[in-house]
Amino acid sequence: MTDGMNGRCLCGNLQFAVRGKRLWVAHCHCDSCRRNTGSAVATFVGYNKDQLTYTRGERKFYESSPGVRRGFCADCGTPMTYEADRCPEEVHLYVSTLDEPGAYRPQLHVFFAERIPWMDLNDDLPRYQGLTPGAEPASWGPLHDQTEGHKG
Ligand SMILES: [Zn+2]
Ligand SMILES: [Zn+2]
Repeated sequence: MTDGMNGRCLCGNLQFAVRGKRLWVAHCHCDSCRRNTGSAVATFVGYNKDQLTYTRGERKFYESSPGVRRGFCADCGTPMTYEADRCPEEVHLYVSTLDEPGAYRPQLHVFFAERIPWMDLNDDLPRYQGLTPGAEPASWGPLHDQTEGHKG
């Protein structure tokens, strides 16, 4: 699917645009993403880095584990991006920072084993307990540490 969309943080000091074909859309239930967002689940869309342009402001970064950088707005604290050394071409955006998140229908769940137990999801999407297994492109899903704990 070809798409283009603008997005921003809560205060508007960070504004961005994405252009071209998205790579994937996924719900991540991992502990790190839940803490980072304060939400029950974090929903990401993946793009290649050259598809993302910041039109206003610059992100600050927090290295949440070695090789993992989470970008955020220094003024309002909105989580904006996830980047990891293991997928250096990619940037993962939080769908809810885009102007029309409804256009990004999720395709799968990752780290479903870490979901909050009361999270009752009535969809028929694939539910991977960790990251997606071997057959998928390496880019599938927000890629965190694939070893035990995978704190990202
Ligand atoms: Zn902001
Ligand atoms: Zn995660």
